[in-house]
Amino acid sequence: MVEDEESITEPLAEALDREGFETSVAGTVADALESARREPPDLVLLDVMLPDGSGYDVCRELRRDSEVPIIMLTARGEETDRIVGLELGADDYVVKPFSAREVVARIRAVLRRSAGGREDGPGGPLEVAELQLDPARRSATLGGEELELTRREFELLELLMREAGSVVTRERLIDEVWDVNWFGSTKTLDVHVSSLRRKLGEDPAQPRFIHTVRGVGFRLAGPDEL
Ligand code: CA
Repeated sequence: MVEDEESITEPLAEALDREGFETSVAGTVADALESARREPPDLVLLDVMLPDGSGYDVCRELRRDSEVPIIMLTARGEETDRIVGLELGADDYVVKPFSAREVVARIRAVLRRSAGGREDGPGGPLEVAELQLDPARRSATLGGEELELTRREFELLELLMREAGSVVTRERLIDEVWDVNWFGSTKTLDVHVSSLRRKLGEDPAQPRFIHTVRGVGFRLAGPDEL
């Protein structure tokens, strides 16, 4: 738990303890990075406003070499906060003031998703025009150039490539890439798709790969269209 306000950390740590989680608290950016190095956590709850910097810096730093699930603790009304966090690779967010119960539910959903995602083992490599993706190697390239994708972006792209040429509904994307019990805003999906488009160098006015099917979902162009 990375948070400097004891009025939040103390009751939350107690609630998590009762649920069987072992919690350690870091109150600063420096402390968070140091303890993550010393003892890699299974999940990170991350506040945005910290005394020596921003939780975004912690998120960015952790994402350099780790896919540890991250849940941002964000202030009410700060929608841009949530979007920035998700773009930096956070998995979900909760809005303050939150109940311990809500946080526990999010933690369980995120952990279930990150543990259960690969039960059947990764599928084979995919190729659509100059776009290539290899689930086993967690690698995606465009014209031979490696794409730096977050876990969610990678899974979105994988699903869209698997179904290239066909529409994948918003519901299915959310179900398969997040969790069936996911109760965040569906805006999260749009944020990830636009970030993915940007990384693919798409022209938002005239996307080449990922097409929006209004009211339904998204479609990756089939090889015959590219
Ligand atoms: Ca704070």
